[in-house]
Amino acid sequence: MAEKRDYYEVLGVSKDASADEIKKAYRKLALQYHPDRNPGDKAAEEKFKEAAEAYDVLSDENKRKRYDQFGFAADQGAGFGGAGFSVEDIFRNFGDIFGGHFSGGGAGGFGDIFGDFFGGGTSSGRRVERGSDIRIKMKLTLEEIMTGVDKKVKISKLAPCPDCGGKGAASDADIKTCPDCNGSGYVVRQTRSIFGITQTQSVCSRCGGTGKMITKPCRKCGGSGLVKAPEEIHFKIPAGVAQGMTLTVQGKGNAAAHGGINGDLQVLIEEEPHKDFVRDGNDLMYPLFISIPDAISGCEVEIPAIGGKIKVKIPAGCQSGRELRVRGKGIPDVNGYGRGDLLIYVQVWIPSRLSSEEKKLVEKLRECESFKPIPSGDDKRSFLSRIKGFFK
Ligand SMILES: [Zn+2]
Ligand SMILES: [Zn+2]
Repeated sequence: MAEKRDYYEVLGVSKDASADEIKKAYRKLALQYHPDRNPGDKAAEEKFKEAAEAYDVLSDENKRKRYDQFGFAADQGAGFGGAGFSVEDIFRNFGDIFGGHFSGGGAGGFGDIFGDFFGGGTSSGRRVERGSDIRIKMKLTLEEIMTGVDKKVKISKLAPCPDCGGKGAASDADIKTCPDCNGSGYVVRQTRSIFGITQTQSVCSRCGGTGKMITKPCRKCGGSGLVKAPEEIHFKIPAGVAQGMTLTVQGKGNAAAHGGINGDLQVLIEEEPHKDFVRDGNDLMYPLFISIPDAISGCEVEIPAIGGKIKVKIPAGCQSGRELRVRGKGIPDVNGYGRGDLLIYVQVWIPSRLSSEEKKLVEKLRECESFKPIPSGDDKRSFLSRIKGFFK
């Protein structure tokens, strides 16, 4: 990730700037880099987000104090906007600074300023549309989770209509200025009462606040400006993801009508069960069955670990239920904090069917003194604590 800029530097204010100065500085930047004014400009969108994050921290007395004291280190889990804002978040959280202008409400405190910039002289009604998110499920094998994987999916999503370029009209000549509001997107009504003349301003109902009317809609999209179209989307799944996690692929959701912002693609991770291993956090559990002679005399076995086999020595006199740990052979941590372990649980295989010859051998063993169980106190305690652990 790129080096973060100091929040005061981002807003271009001094360390002792007043709340009012901070608000003014932010408003100026928000106007400058507003997505509406810079359609499709990723750099402007980043600046817009950067300014919103700085404003989020510096406009909050507590967050600002923490930031002054600790800098970005104060961010650790403390709830700065460090995770990054989406444009939608910014409108939701800082709507007041836009005076309700972009959320489709009436003219607010700064409506006139924004109107000059975006509304072609209007002071209300404009609205930044955002396409909806698309949610998909993605099944992954343990092998894919171990290494991370590049995936591509083909999904049907709303995209700008290719015939009208998303404008919704059959041709540019079929887009007319709304006669009810003369293109301003709002109408003013005057009512006379005993208190005098009252003016109320509301969103133009004829054009829905866009200031424009389509006299002949595009035949392909019926005027909506959007069509369903299949798209192949590529994205990376990092190593170490787990069942239930959601990955966000930004901007790959549905398109919004009339040149708004795309929604996101949300990918819900599902793990497929593995034939050999069971996952426990970042550890892998492997049940190993060994024969009675191997348990008594010890042996060397090959474990089918993911990404190559591992040789493991089973010591002589190995009890059933013994746990062997192979460090670093588990799943990589999704945040890059090392790897889990491979845990091998030994189970001594007791045969249930024997030939008459084998039965005779077992009868002989029964007479042997060493085959009679003589567990120590430690043996008993460790056995019981394991059983208890299983029932926790
Ligand atoms: Zn109108
Ligand atoms: Zn169209």
